Amino acid sequence: MNIVRTIADVRTALEPHRRAGRTIGFVPTMGYFHAGHASLMRRARETSDVVVVSLFVNPTQFNDPSDLTAYPRDEERDAALASTEGVDILFAPAATDVYPPGFATTVVVTRVTEQMEGATRGVSHFVGVATVVAKLFNMVQPTTAFFGQKDAQQALVVRRMTRDLDIPVRIEVCPTVREPDGLAMSSRNVRLSAAARDQALALSAALSSAERAVAAGVRDARVLLDSARAVMRGRGVEPEYLEIVSADTLAAVDRIAGEALMAVAAHVGGVRLIDNVMLRAG
Ligand code: AMP
Repeated sequence: MNIVRTIADVRTALEPHRRAGRTIGFVPTMGYFHAGHASLMRRARETSDVVVVSLFVNPTQFNDPSDLTAYPRDEERDAALASTEGVDILFAPAATDVYPPGFATTVVVTRVTEQMEGATRGVSHFVGVATVVAKLFNMVQPTTAFFGQKDAQQALVVRRMTRDLDIPVRIEVCPTVREPDGLAMSSRNVRLSAAARDQALALSAALSSAERAVAAGVRDARVLLDSARAVMRGRGVEPEYLEIVSADTLAAVDRIAGEALMAVAAHVGGVRLIDNVMLRAG
């Protein structure tokens, strides 16, 4: 595996592959890899000739400076895992290369950024995400880019942006990988104390209780949200948001007909966690 640190070097490394007509699979990440990241790399490896993973803790998408400072980092461990997954190029640029002095351009996606993560973390979060993903797409020029359903709104924002800006990349969204007890894998989970790790199950427990209720015939979103909130409260966790929305537009849904996205965010032991499921009325 080749580790490259500059935009010029990633272009140089990819040039012969592009000329040979090889497909490039790309997995953008902020590092501290877990099985969720590995699943994206594996999917890229299965479907692409060349696999590029970027490792960049993007400062502009952090609304909370202490979250940025506390974000876990371990490049050596990440490089070992990426290499095991058959990644060809690990692209780890410096912030000064991504945002050189005088940097003055942003990508603003509207509508699908206004709810949930956008409403709680502020508009700057998805401006940071869209801008860095657009830049990474221009640097790597992948055939396909792989994102996790764990960050459902982010995947929707990236899809919207690539369509609206005619960026020639296919977006593939891969399922959320969970711990055996249901907790969605996240780089932030290492910051949970033992007690908070237990409490963190409130999110997945609330979502799976709603899935079970839908399977049992409940269709009223208010009823589903009230009982999911009660599940969380029973574990001592208050959601920052808990919503059932259209998976395409993120508009609130009153009744489940077909598919709807149920998404939750909560602070548990000082760590902000998110999770979601697709509710399907059969
Ligand atoms: P991050 O490093 O947290 O920015 O995540 C990089 C990519 O991995 C994003 O597309 C995430 O949605 C995805 N990802 C993070 N956690 C998971 C998970 N538990 N399952 C599947 N994908 C994930």
